[in-house]
This record gives sequence, structure tokens and C-alpha cells, in this order.
Amino acid sequence: MSSDLRDLYQSVILDHNRHPRNFGKLEGSSHEAEGYNPLCGDKVKVYLRMAGDVVEDVSFEGSGCAISTASASLLTDSAKGKKREEVERLFRRFRGVVMGENGSGAEDPPLGKLEVLAGVREFPMRVKCATLVWHTLMAAFEQRNETVSTE
Ligand code: ZN
Repeated sequence: MSSDLRDLYQSVILDHNRHPRNFGKLEGSSHEAEGYNPLCGDKVKVYLRMAGDVVEDVSFEGSGCAISTASASLLTDSAKGKKREEVERLFRRFRGVVMGENGSGAEDPPLGKLEVLAGVREFPMRVKCATLVWHTLMAAFEQRNETVSTE
């Protein structure tokens, strides 16, 4: 990756951290779940409003490091309007990319702007920061009520 591109990605992450999209409680949510990453102290709560199997709206609350906040902001932006099954495929792809797997993933959708988080694969401690909100969203889909932990 060129250093220009790296700087761009860095600035996108910083922007989403400073100005998170879809931040706050979602009125009329149908699904909720909480997640916690004890390694870093990141906490997140995801609110979902489903219309059938489509994510009609999604938001999050919580406090955490820049990576976890930016990941939650980018994920909620990306998930909105998608079917649950599409979001699950996106998660498989995202997890593969941040964990540095070289699987083809040809059947999985492109990451789009989520690609800016791909750099965390160079920082194994940060992978859980980036995936916490995804695990939490999956729990919300399943309407599990316990707090999801990355441990
Ligand atoms: Zn973190």
C-alpha cells in the first residue's frame, strides 16, 4: 500500500472516530445487543430495526478506541438497507481481510469503504477492536440478550 493511500485510510478512520455516523439510541428498535472487548476496554451497544430480513435502520452507542468507534460507524453505514444474509456475507469477508486470510472470498461482496480498516491486520491486538461491533450485530440479529465478549 502506498503511503498516500495509508494516510487517506488513516484520515477516514479518524473522521469516523471524531464524527461517528449513526451514533445514539435508535427509537423503535426491534433488536439490540451489547458487546465488550476486555483487551482494549471497548464497549458497544447495537440497535437494529428490521423490516422482515432487511436492516431498515441501525445505530450504536458506546465508548472505545478509535478503531472500534470507526468500525461501528462504518459498519452501521454499510449495513443499512441490506438483507441480514448480505451483512453476514460482508462480515465473513471483513473478518477474512482483517485477519489477513488469503482466501479468495470470490463469492463474498466487496468491502467498499470498510476496506479502510484492512490495515488493522498488521496489528493483531486491534483486530478485536475492529470486529467487536460485527460480533455484536450478529448477536442482535439472533436476539441474544447476553453481552458478547471478544474473549
Ligand atoms: Zn479498541
